[in-house]
Amino acid sequence: MARLMVTTPRRVAVAAALVEAGAAGVSGEAVAAGLGISRAAVHSHVEALRRLGYEISSSPRVGYRLLSAPDLCIPEEVWPRLADALWVSCVGGVVTGSTNDEAKRLARDGAPEGTAVVAAAQTQGRGRMGREWESPRGGAYVSCVLRPTLAPSALTALPLAAAVGVARGLETLGMEVRLKWPNDVESGGRKLAGILLEMAAEADRVEWVVVGCGINVAGTPYPGAACVRDVAPAVGSADVAAAVLDGIAGAYHEFMTRGFEPLREEYEARSSLTGCDVRVRDHTGSLVAEGRVAGVGPDGALVLHAQDGQRRIVSGEVTLRD
Ligand code: ATP
Repeated sequence: MARLMVTTPRRVAVAAALVEAGAAGVSGEAVAAGLGISRAAVHSHVEALRRLGYEISSSPRVGYRLLSAPDLCIPEEVWPRLADALWVSCVGGVVTGSTNDEAKRLARDGAPEGTAVVAAAQTQGRGRMGREWESPRGGAYVSCVLRPTLAPSALTALPLAAAVGVARGLETLGMEVRLKWPNDVESGGRKLAGILLEMAAEADRVEWVVVGCGINVAGTPYPGAACVRDVAPAVGSADVAAAVLDGIAGAYHEFMTRGFEPLREEYEARSSLTGCDVRVRDHTGSLVAEGRVAGVGPDGALVLHAQDGQRRIVSGEVTLRD
């Protein structure tokens, strides 16, 4: 509970205390003492949780007892599930504009590494190049603030490391996923999740990196997309969010301590493009390369065997050739 008191919003801390107490329940007094707030404040947080869809019984003998929680990717649900030591706080709400925008705002205001932002719906979800990421309620939308102590040039493969983390997280829920360079996560050949990294840096110093991921959980908001429940019907939105965030945290630790190489092998093992004939176009739609995918390089570039030799692709739109 000490960790909660530092930076996590009180309502999230109250929800976590109720989860921790389980069927035994916990008195308002004990929660208040644990969090250093008044019993009246605990009561108003419990009321706010009820409005969010929590069923909480209260009795003079047992105190508060959590009967059921809503299936939502909100901080109250995600925070108690986060296991990695990276996490220092989890903020957000039912609806936000974009968890990446919110995390960027917090990062600019000095939020520490390990600040997570989660939401159950986004009104302005984005993918690469400002493309829209459909984010209705029923998905898991997560972002986090990282502050890697490396030069920007050392981070070119971080998006791929993050993708490995997302894949590992989803695999802990019993899913089988593939990665499509650079930032798509697929299930059964259909897009399940997208990853977006944004950063602020000077020439030799990174100020912050925000890693965001939107995952379709309860339904498929985009034609031809996949969702978690197609494969894992019993998995909750907050389980998905926590698994993905912990996966990102684990991959990030490895990236920082051992570099990209071990993660590169993992990325390639999950890559849906290796060995495929592809076309690469730039953001204007112009063809930049054609060839067979050999793998990814130490810097995260896509490596192609093209007619004129080996090509390294650092950005672009990859499609399979007919
Ligand atoms: P592509 O997968 O077509 O190469 P991209 O990787 O460049 O796209 P992203 O940044 O991953 O693009 O995501 C934006 C695109 O994903 C949108 O233009 C749309 O085609 C698709 N999309 C939007 N919302 C969803 C969603 N919820 N699930 C799956 N796909 C979506």
